[in-house]
Amino acid sequence: LMQLSVPLNFIGFVYREIRQGLTDIEQMFDLLEVQAEVVDKPDATALSIDKGAIAFKDVHFHYDPDRPILKGVSFEVPAGKTVAVVGPSGAGKSTISRLLYRFYDVQQGSITIDGQDVRDVTQKSLRAVIGMVPQDTVLFNDTIAYNIRYGRPGASEAEIEQAAEVAQISRFIKELPEGYGTKVGERGLKLSGGEKQRVAIARTVLKAPPILILDEATSALDTTTEHEIQSALDIVSKNRTTLVIAHRLSTVVNADEIIVLKGGEIAERGSHSALLEQNGLYASMWNRQREATQAEEKLRQVRESD
Ligand code: ADP
Ligand code: MG
Repeated sequence: LMQLSVPLNFIGFVYREIRQGLTDIEQMFDLLEVQAEVVDKPDATALSIDKGAIAFKDVHFHYDPDRPILKGVSFEVPAGKTVAVVGPSGAGKSTISRLLYRFYDVQQGSITIDGQDVRDVTQKSLRAVIGMVPQDTVLFNDTIAYNIRYGRPGASEAEIEQAAEVAQISRFIKELPEGYGTKVGERGLKLSGGEKQRVAIARTVLKAPPILILDEATSALDTTTEHEIQSALDIVSKNRTTLVIAHRLSTVVNADEIIVLKGGEIAERGSHSALLEQNGLYASMWNRQREATQAEEKLRQVRESD
């Protein structure tokens, strides 16, 4: 059942994380290539990628039969476009990304990539075309170079440095005493949330997948870090089919379509300006976040003038 592709010393780390109740368990499945709920069909074929168009059709999903999470969700991410999913915490946003990556199967409806049902293709071929930048990145207890190279094991040092450049973390790395050879992770240099996320972005840049899933960090990144990360993500998602799970609405303004998820259904959908005009749920979320940001900004100014 477990296919180990990482050195054994990570097991202890993973075990501790499980005991601490880590919620982003999919990352560990990813790291360990553990096959959880789903198995390949005996006649599964490799996904054949054309342009990477995604379609959710009438998707119903529950973890627990008593508690439906998605109740008939349909949307498309056209090839090369960006669709953002927003909504209250617990609405099922991250579930959508887990279903696309096929950590679970839908109970009704379908998810297709270039017309192929994700249940009909091998998981290996599916996951090879999807790059995921998760909410909370787990780093290996190894060097920065190792952590970035994980995106494409054959990558050269020059390619790793290029990826770090795109992810806007190369300057930070070069200033470290041992540069790319600096050990990070639990037993090495502890990186901040923003730094870890940029390592994850560099990893994804190196993988260069046709499809990208970004589950944005909720943890309070400061505004500068957020801007830096955002511009890195804009570069990575350019001309790639991108599904953004967004917590901060400032990052979805330019999405081709925004989907507002509530109570397991799509409550509203449209462009940023169309949704503001609609003056509904999205508009009220937007106003609330803007007020919060302004308050935060004022507080910072007060602190700085002290
Ligand atoms: P969001 O990302 O919108 O905050 P999620 O998709 O992570 O929400 O979760 C939707 C709901 O499903 C939440 O109420 C969450 O508690 C529940 N949930 C998530 N993962 C599991 C799981 N593995 N087993 C049972 N319930 C889960
Ligand atoms: Mg989430």
